[in-house]
Amino acid sequence: RARQAGENHIEFFSESMSRWAFERLTLEQSLRDALRNRELVVYYQPRIDIETRKILGMEALVRWIHPQFGLVSPGQFIPLAEETGLIVPIGEWILRDACRQNAAWRAMGLPSIRVSVNLSPVQFRKPNLHESVYDALDDAGLDADGLELEVTESLLMNDPSETAAILGKLKSRGIHISIDDFGTGYSSLSYLKRFPINALKIDRSFITDVTSNPDDAAIATAIILMGHSLKLSVVAEGVETENQLAFLKVLQCNEVQGYLFSPPVPAERAQEMLAEQIFARAAAA
Ligand code: C2E
Ligand code: MG
Ligand code: MG
Ligand code: MG
Repeated sequence: RARQAGENHIEFFSESMSRWAFERLTLEQSLRDALRNRELVVYYQPRIDIETRKILGMEALVRWIHPQFGLVSPGQFIPLAEETGLIVPIGEWILRDACRQNAAWRAMGLPSIRVSVNLSPVQFRKPNLHESVYDALDDAGLDADGLELEVTESLLMNDPSETAAILGKLKSRGIHISIDDFGTGYSSLSYLKRFPINALKIDRSFITDVTSNPDDAAIATAIILMGHSLKLSVVAEGVETENQLAFLKVLQCNEVQGYLFSPPVPAERAQEMLAEQIFARAAAA
């Protein structure tokens, strides 16, 4: 009986396993085709100066417009792209697209901003990452100050000396470097000092309840004070309410990003927002 039950269990398990493997394979195959079929699109979310409320930058966030599933968010395919190594060509395409877009905005005379691009730790395993970044800038005709690269805390922890060397090269060229999802890893003050970075982005999980949860408020406060003591700019992610904004302003957080201002939007809409900023300035003058 027990053996039979065991066999049944195995049979059930292997059936769901193979279905899972099949779905994964299908997804992997269509992700391979996505780039060639132009199904990947870069959306942009503004990063706002907390004092002036002006747009300082736009974060590039990839979307997959799948012919059957519709809009697929990066959380649903970036992990697979990382496991399969597809993140390398996909990431390079995003980088090139974002650089080209910002060069185009600058050429139109729109307010000069910086685009920030997320880099996966997998992209750092390629020895020539810095060269593909320079190529992306050169081919787009974008000045290095028009680009920021967002890296995660775990990247810094896992291979600190190699990572610091690559980031050092990029930063000395004038490219900004920020640490994304800050507070979710384990970097300490002394640790951070070793890395050539410009900004910390406080993870959204600490901002959501920052006005009601004393622990989150304490963490956000500590990150801002720590960042400023290291002469880093501090950005808050996921700002959705005026109350959160007011709290962060008292702490002199430098930049905010979140639905309060705008969700990630297609490039055409982002461009309109930049243009509106010119009109707002002209109206105020
Ligand atoms: P992230 O880099 O931390 O990006 C911020 C995420 O928070 C984005 O989710 C954005 O849409 C979301 N967000 C921004 N403001 C708010 C808000 O006020 N409320 C809420 N609830 N959410 C907000 P998204 O676009 O789904 O991206 C998720 C993650 O996927 C990103 O987190 C990043 O780690 C990764 N990702 C996105 N695009 C790329 C890419 O081009 N390359 C790589 N390697 N990773 C990417
Ligand atoms: Mg990011
Ligand atoms: Mg983040
Ligand atoms: Mg994230």
